[in-house]
Amino acid sequence: MEIKVGKAKVKLIQGDITEQATDAIVNAANPTLMGGGGVDGAIHRKGGARILEECKRIRENQYPHGLPVGEAVITTGGYLKAKYVIHTVGPIWKGGNKGEAELLAKAYQSSLKLAVSKGLKSIAFPSISTGAYGYPIKEASKVALSKVKEFLEKEDLLDEVIFVLFSERDLKVYNDVVKEIFNL
Ligand code: ADP
Repeated sequence: MEIKVGKAKVKLIQGDITEQATDAIVNAANPTLMGGGGVDGAIHRKGGARILEECKRIRENQYPHGLPVGEAVITTGGYLKAKYVIHTVGPIWKGGNKGEAELLAKAYQSSLKLAVSKGLKSIAFPSISTGAYGYPIKEASKVALSKVKEFLEKEDLLDEVIFVLFSERDLKVYNDVVKEIFNL
């Protein structure tokens, strides 16, 4: 599925985000920035040690207590095809009444803003918070897609935003919800 918002393209694909050749890929990190399971583990494994080295430096210099939920930082892409990795932390799902939607929207917003501030043109997102963090995918996809739509409607500095869904089922949910969000 591909949608135009101004001059930008929004694409929804099934795949492995570590194979994306966008300017940046987004990592669904945890506050430690020291790697973990899921997409985080895959990015560090394939991107190599330089990513972790830069994460350690960021922790020491900027975030000694960890990266707060909703914030984003940028490192090299190391050996990845993407030039940069934007690390953000989504919320852990606690039933939906603990500000999860706002925090998830903030994680997308911070990542998009950081990409633009570095002059990047293309960015790929995984489905943040919907793995180990337990956010229901349909609800998460509404937040993700409406935030990207809102961001692209306000400014036209990005050329491409790709959602890389790991499973066919996840892609189907995003494909269904995108019709609702973009009035297709
Ligand atoms: P979180 O802790 O934010 O929930 P996870 O990594 O556990 O992060 O899961 C987030 C999403 O990323 C899940 O939908 C999971 O299936 C997906 N995922 C895992 N590995 C990859 C990958 N290599 N490429 C794209 N998505 C991935």
